[in-house]
Amino acid sequence: MPELPEVETARRHIERDLVGRRLVFVENRLPKLMRDSPILELTPLQGATLLAANRRAKVLNLTFDNGLSLLIHLKLSGQITIFVAGGRQVGAGHPVPRPDDAYPHRATHVTFRFDDGTIAYLSDVRQFGWLRLMPTEDVQAALALFKFGPEGTGELDVAELSKVFTRRGIPVKTLLLDQSFVAGLGNIYVDEVLFRSGVHPSRAANSLKPKQVRTIIEAIPPVLAEGIAQGGAKIINHRAHPQNNFPAVHGRSGDPCFVCGTAIEKIRVGARGTYLCPKCQPPPRKTRASRANAD
Ligand SMILES: [Zn+2]
Repeated sequence: MPELPEVETARRHIERDLVGRRLVFVENRLPKLMRDSPILELTPLQGATLLAANRRAKVLNLTFDNGLSLLIHLKLSGQITIFVAGGRQVGAGHPVPRPDDAYPHRATHVTFRFDDGTIAYLSDVRQFGWLRLMPTEDVQAALALFKFGPEGTGELDVAELSKVFTRRGIPVKTLLLDQSFVAGLGNIYVDEVLFRSGVHPSRAANSLKPKQVRTIIEAIPPVLAEGIAQGGAKIINHRAHPQNNFPAVHGRSGDPCFVCGTAIEKIRVGARGTYLCPKCQPPPRKTRASRANAD
């Protein structure tokens, strides 16, 4: 699933290769992608110039010069691939279609053609992604409906976020996945944050010491930054292909911990496959206590 670093990579590609260009043609072959969209067609964008590519959590927000904005969520399997006029090709998001496949692929649903011949394709194998076209003045209200917490890539208020830990008896991993706590942390990056913090993912959030809570919160921006620097963690068929020891645990069950050499384990926390080092992240002593406090 495209996580925040993949979405941010797509945003950067769009910013570099599409902003400032005029959209001359757009075709959407899968109308259901316009789920809950105030405007159900993309054709009102034809003739407009892309002014900006922003992001809130995993929602891309493209602003055009005709007063309209396009929100895009890649969900489980969305992918944006750009063929820049004159050669360069960049893609971000789900790894299917592969970059060396022919485009448009059968999973390509939307084609955007710009005035200089640059083309962007939106592909989505599973078709859970969505696009919403609306007046730019309505975008902030539309984004507010998601109740996203602060951006995990930005500066985090340790004191404010620490208070949330003391109120929640749920596993710390479950808390970190809650987008109203911090926006943008998905399964891979939560596992990495907890490994760096030396905290077992099943620990009840309210059982952690203030120092552990601070360590966890402070690990969030650098972990996401590492993911963004790599254009998204390289995980193929659930196996990680770490670069610079990242990812350190996610997708590495059975492989040695980069810190202590112990085999990485895979467990379930909530419903989510969760990777950890059993030595660097000691398990909770009393699981009974965390269950009694569960909210
Ligand atoms: Zn270890």
